[in-house]
Amino acid sequence: MKVCVLASGSGGNAVYVQEGPTRVLIDAGLTGRKVEDRLRAIDVDPGSLQAIVVTHEHADHIRGAGVLARRFRLPVWMTGGTLEASRETFRGVERVRRFENDEAFDFGDLRFQPFTLSHDAADPVNFVVEGGEARLGIATDLGVVTQLVYQRLRGADLVVMETNHDRDLLMNGSYSWDLKRRIGGNRGHLSNGKAAEALCSLAEEGLRQALLAHLSDENNRPDLAEGTCRSELEGRGVRDFALTVLQQDRPSPIFVI
Ligand SMILES: [Zn+2]
Ligand SMILES: [Zn+2]
Repeated sequence: MKVCVLASGSGGNAVYVQEGPTRVLIDAGLTGRKVEDRLRAIDVDPGSLQAIVVTHEHADHIRGAGVLARRFRLPVWMTGGTLEASRETFRGVERVRRFENDEAFDFGDLRFQPFTLSHDAADPVNFVVEGGEARLGIATDLGVVTQLVYQRLRGADLVVMETNHDRDLLMNGSYSWDLKRRIGGNRGHLSNGKAAEALCSLAEEGLRQALLAHLSDENNRPDLAEGTCRSELEGRGVRDFALTVLQQDRPSPIFVI
């Protein structure tokens, strides 16, 4: 399986996944044009895409999804709750497909296992994506790592893990108290510290590679996100663990798992 995170952060999120002939995007939160540019930058013809799978209706996850689906006549998969909350974006899309939260579905050579997240959206999910022997886990836009999230991510070869904010930067920063509470709360976004703990638990079960995702411009820095995770992992005796901090403004390397 090939995986490339085209963009990550509040300015837009999109993950490209390829298994054999199957090519899909998980979220398309940049403009349609930018998603196309970034696909070309990694030598993928946007016209070869086969589907878009959506996690939730926040603009940083669906901004370009309707445009791309109409332009390339792609099916778009999402929960009923997400569809209700984003009808305007997907108006005119011919093939809207629903999946049930927590029920696996197949698309081409990929199997998607959606799981519920604690996040302030209508019916948000993230996915474990299986193709061949490979297993990709994605956990972004969540306020807390629940037992269910652990269960689903267990056994993944690669995990995209949200490190949204540094708790101190958030609390001492310029955001209003309400916004701080929303972002730092159980239905908001994951802090570096919570992500580091989750990665340690997963490392104990064999995970050796993670991509740090959805970093806030205001309330985080790449060195803080990576440093927090690195020192937590080393504190638990995990040394051979690959961490890559994802960027908003350019695609990640292509990971082959
Ligand atoms: Zn988001
Ligand atoms: Zn969100």
